[in-house]
Amino acid sequence: MNKIFAANWKMYLNEEESLDFVSKMFLNKSLFLSKEIMIFPSHTAISSVKNALKNMSNVKVGMQDCDIEMGGAVTGSNSISSISVDSCIIGHSERRIIFKEDEKIIKQKLENSLKTVESTILCVGETLNEKKQNETFNVIDKQLSILPRSLNEKKLIIAYEPVWAIGTGLVPSSDYIGEVLSYINNAIKSLYSNQMLNEVNLFYGGSVDENSVESLSAIPLLDGFLIGSASADFKKFENILKKMRWYDSIFNNDTYNN
Ligand code: PEP
Repeated sequence: MNKIFAANWKMYLNEEESLDFVSKMFLNKSLFLSKEIMIFPSHTAISSVKNALKNMSNVKVGMQDCDIEMGGAVTGSNSISSISVDSCIIGHSERRIIFKEDEKIIKQKLENSLKTVESTILCVGETLNEKKQNETFNVIDKQLSILPRSLNEKKLIIAYEPVWAIGTGLVPSSDYIGEVLSYINNAIKSLYSNQMLNEVNLFYGGSVDENSVESLSAIPLLDGFLIGSASADFKKFENILKKMRWYDSIFNNDTYNN
């Protein structure tokens, strides 16, 4: 299966820079049209990015986070229904650590997102300390314990993002990622019917770049990537997709049009 590329632009790009990025995508339209892409701009740029991308229907646009409330007196925050989007990221480690979001908060956000948008990305992953103490699977269990019993035909993406790999340049070995994805896969298999499992994808995120993307693509069970800093730099993101076009032409029998 061809991989899905989710670009988490965090707070890297303002509205003008986001639009500049999108206009560069149109300069290499055949590449960007050939891949399944999800872009998560800053909230302030969502509307203009969506509008600029309306002729690239393969590119979905989402929110980086949403509030636990669906609306009301919450100054400065944004509910999942505050703007029309295709997707939302929930439980990113920066939200868990900087904003002290616990499982209760993330569960509420997950519910809001799953009932509102087409696909939801739930981020899970251990810190370096937890890894050193062999706590990885316990952490994953706790983070997955908030999953609902039914997905109501909405898509759920579970992104395994070890906190120690985010923004550090450290990428775990493919075997390590494969082992954790297989653990996650078994956990969701025990929760969902085969039909619902068709709606679940597994991603990896943490320092993915043009040098690591090809070898990571060979990991069994991996459906896509959640990419942070390299996704907000146009050249780096373009190079990741170019590498993958080459990879897909060899391993997935895609036509390679340059
Ligand atoms: C992320 O924050 O989701 C992420 C994967 O970041 P980076 O690619 O910069 O490590």
